[in-house]
Amino acid sequence: MREGSLEAPVRRPLAWRDPDFTDPAKLDAEMRRVFDICHGCRRCFNLCDSFPRLFDLIDASRTGELDSVDSKDFKPVVDACTLCDMCFLTKCPYVPPHEFDLDFPHLMLRYRAMEAKTKGVPFADRELAKTDRNGKLGTLAAPLANWLTDRGNARGRALLESRAGLHREAELPRYASRSLAARARKEAPAVNREAPAFGKRKAVLYATCFGNYNDPGPGLATRAVLARNGVETEVLHPRCCGMPTLEQGLIEEVAAAAREVAAALLPWIEKGYDVVALVPSCALMLKFEWPLILPEEQAVKRLAEATFDVAEYVVDIARKEGLAPGLRPIEGGMTLHMACHARAQNMGQKAAEMLRLIPGAEVQVIERCSGHGGAWGFKKANFETALKVGRPVARQAREAGKAYVTSECPLAGVHIMQGIERLGGGEKAGPELVRHPIQLLARAYGLDGTAQGGTAP
Ligand code: SF4
Ligand code: SF4
Repeated sequence: MREGSLEAPVRRPLAWRDPDFTDPAKLDAEMRRVFDICHGCRRCFNLCDSFPRLFDLIDASRTGELDSVDSKDFKPVVDACTLCDMCFLTKCPYVPPHEFDLDFPHLMLRYRAMEAKTKGVPFADRELAKTDRNGKLGTLAAPLANWLTDRGNARGRALLESRAGLHREAELPRYASRSLAARARKEAPAVNREAPAFGKRKAVLYATCFGNYNDPGPGLATRAVLARNGVETEVLHPRCCGMPTLEQGLIEEVAAAAREVAAALLPWIEKGYDVVALVPSCALMLKFEWPLILPEEQAVKRLAEATFDVAEYVVDIARKEGLAPGLRPIEGGMTLHMACHARAQNMGQKAAEMLRLIPGAEVQVIERCSGHGGAWGFKKANFETALKVGRPVARQAREAGKAYVTSECPLAGVHIMQGIERLGGGEKAGPELVRHPIQLLARAYGLDGTAQGGTAP
């Protein structure tokens, strides 16, 4: 629920094919209109670093108003936005249908689209966003890739910092030596024919780049839990959802990804399969961003309607058919970070609901941005800001004293652990990171031995 408004927010389709969308003068006029409203409102002062940068800029200007701020100084405001969507969803009373028609994250995206068109995207950023290509190479040469990116490899990390702009202290995703899709082709868990949901559901797991190449653990756990609950699964990864290129304003490339993935998954939907996306940012793309980018494409619409977040799907089974028995308590309690892109799916706290299906589960929920924001938080220019924005989450997780920390966002979980490490003066002691809450459910079923990725930090 947003502060100050009872109406559900409406998101308008992105007019990215309209030449006005990337027209610098028209964009500047819209930035000034929106920034002036924000200056008068200031509700979002503590959500991220974008708003403090904007308000400091205005306060330090000659008149103390937007009219004396130079437009070239808007760029740091845009650069600090991770596109987490929290201002739109949780704070802003002026989003559509309000007449102010304000969508701050999409305005930041429009600025990036204008920059991408007029100046291009830096080479290193373009290469980093090729997550499918990088994932294929990374799994082929996993020991080498993991050696190079290890935080303990001072020389390797100095090289990555100077060449790719990746902060040397940022914990980077490791690569699995076999992708989730490859493992799924060889190892299919036996489907429980006694489960209440047996015969009622089938699901395609959209592996996602992270779930496919970096850590197959959450995908294997999802398969195992669903099989225990009578749900047959297939694992597919037609290609990346395009979130990394969306962050760079390359909307045409996102549209190409949407068309290709929708075309690959549509035949399965027509055979009665649901689609379960393993990472919340990717689920958000399938469910919400793609239909705003390609509102006229029926395959994209059908895919959006058929897609579930992992926890949302398990809770749906629990509500409609009932879960298979066999869940055992997990000692020590768990801290659950609600990832922004899970919250942005407007589905409620589904991961918390799922974990509370474990008998006696003590679940402490933290509903605040971890500060990471995808690849944004790895960058040399952003890493310290990302830790600063995420410090309240790290502090709460540390003080909670639970045995486990988990988040549906795999990058947020690691980032929170880095924040906890900083608060502890570099000590690595603390709660155990479980990469995705579904792995705790698998553990409660005694299935964790079948659900290990084995390579993630
Ligand atoms: S989308 Fe997130 S990071 Fe961007 S301005 Fe809004 S709250 Fe800040
Ligand atoms: S995005 Fe909305 S709620 Fe946030 S500061 Fe601007 S006008 Fe206020």
